Amino acid sequence: MANAVNEALIRDVIEDVLGRLGGSPTIATAAPTAKPAGDNGSCGCQAKGSGGRDFGVFKTADEACDAAAKAFQQLRGQGVEARRRIVEIVKSLCEDNAEEWGRIELEETKIGRLDHKIEKLQIIRNVPGVEWLRPDGLSGDHGITLEEYTPFGVVGAVTPSTHSIPTLAGNIVNIVAAGNAVVFNAHPAASRCAALAVRKFNEAIHRAIGIENIATIIEQPTLESFGEMCANENVRLLCVTGGPGVVDAAMKTGKRAICAGPGNPPVLVDATADIDRAARCVVQGAAYDNNLLCIGEKEVFVLDSVADAFMSALEKHAAVRLNASQLDALTQAAFVFPEGQGAGCGHAATNKDFIGKDVPVLAQAAGVRVPNGTQLLFAETDANHLFVDEEQMMPMLPVVRVRSVEEGVEAALKAEHNYRHTAIIHSHDVNHMTAMGRALDTTLFVKNGPSMAGLGLGGEGYLSFSIATPTGEGVTNPRTFTRVRRCVMVDNLRIY
Ligand code: NAD
Repeated sequence: MANAVNEALIRDVIEDVLGRLGGSPTIATAAPTAKPAGDNGSCGCQAKGSGGRDFGVFKTADEACDAAAKAFQQLRGQGVEARRRIVEIVKSLCEDNAEEWGRIELEETKIGRLDHKIEKLQIIRNVPGVEWLRPDGLSGDHGITLEEYTPFGVVGAVTPSTHSIPTLAGNIVNIVAAGNAVVFNAHPAASRCAALAVRKFNEAIHRAIGIENIATIIEQPTLESFGEMCANENVRLLCVTGGPGVVDAAMKTGKRAICAGPGNPPVLVDATADIDRAARCVVQGAAYDNNLLCIGEKEVFVLDSVADAFMSALEKHAAVRLNASQLDALTQAAFVFPEGQGAGCGHAATNKDFIGKDVPVLAQAAGVRVPNGTQLLFAETDANHLFVDEEQMMPMLPVVRVRSVEEGVEAALKAEHNYRHTAIIHSHDVNHMTAMGRALDTTLFVKNGPSMAGLGLGGEGYLSFSIATPTGEGVTNPRTFTRVRRCVMVDNLRIY
């Protein structure tokens, strides 16, 4: 595994150096490629510090935005078929490189699980493309009207550390399918893998249709480069995926922002639920990528009458229960407390050293040995525990007993913090489902399945890694990144 990673990193460095020297842009494609349409025979080099070519990776936000603006105009000239080809290239590259890129992302971020990092790239195929842009037509006595979904131009995007390449790839599919170009300011802790993917996408797109820089990235992203990207006059729309800080910052820019913000998804298990299925689904969702998914199950409220059976079922499905002193030890390690205060303080923050870490790391902090293959830790807590209140993003699930569905819904509402992101219920009582759905009013509300079913993974639907919660667009798709334009023919063209 280590060799594969090193090879990839070494290849990257060599490509970078060759690019800066103005030499061959890639060592992976030794054979000469077909001359792209519009190639005037020059190297087509773009500004990258010393003038080398780096396929979409730029030193400054302004360079990245200006190059994307040119690519947008080129794309406009090539029509919908070119968008379709770009979407296919991005999806195929994600599939073909899932193992290598998954490993590289894990190596850089050191959070999450390799099997799920790989899977998150393989499923980019489920992100919708140009087929989503069917126009709407009206026909009547006064003629014919067509409403078309058209691009904005350049979209400025921010990606999280939790799924850097998957979010970036999914955003490119949605945004370019809609006819736009996109500039990325990635998370600094996951920016090298993001830049690697942008290079590979652009190399392949350039080879296929002669357009370079339809997706660009700022090589070393910072808060300043975020500000420059947002302020660039070419950027018409923002798409940010991350926690509360970046959502606030995007909304203050004065530009229209599609914000995929934080969540803290609660699960309610009532007495009518299929308890074994509920436990299996909860383990599947909460353990996925070490609980890094924003939609992942973060706390469970279970009816007292079935709580013991539910926790036994969690154990059957490879979760390990912590006792009270083990929970205390883990809480002390997994949260950072303001000076002089201990566990139980509501203002503690998650300890970044524990976010997305493997179960054995958490188990060691708890002082417990776990068998190989353990997917998740869980512990019984009260409703005010830090593991309930915080979006912990660790494979450790707090389970809270409640005396009634009403109490469970109320506790779930409090834990969700009005993010209106995701909630899950396991029940066969439609009234309970309706009560929880109405009270929490979340963007995703999954019944009797793991959280991922809300993104079409086991349930019906399509995928995106950017679920626009505070701004209300929901699971983003190509139409999210379009302007609706109306074309009207008065008193004519209608046949009857
Ligand atoms: P994060 O908020 O630390 O970073 C997200 C991105 O925002 C990064 O690129 C970061 O550099 C940038 N950023 C952070 N603060 C900023 C600021 N003040 N100004 C400008 N940019 C800023 O989040 P993370 O740890 O990378 O990701 C996890 C968070 O993202 C969780 O809260 C999770 O729920 C959320 N998330 C939401 C979705 C969704 O679809 N709704 C998807 C994935 C992750």
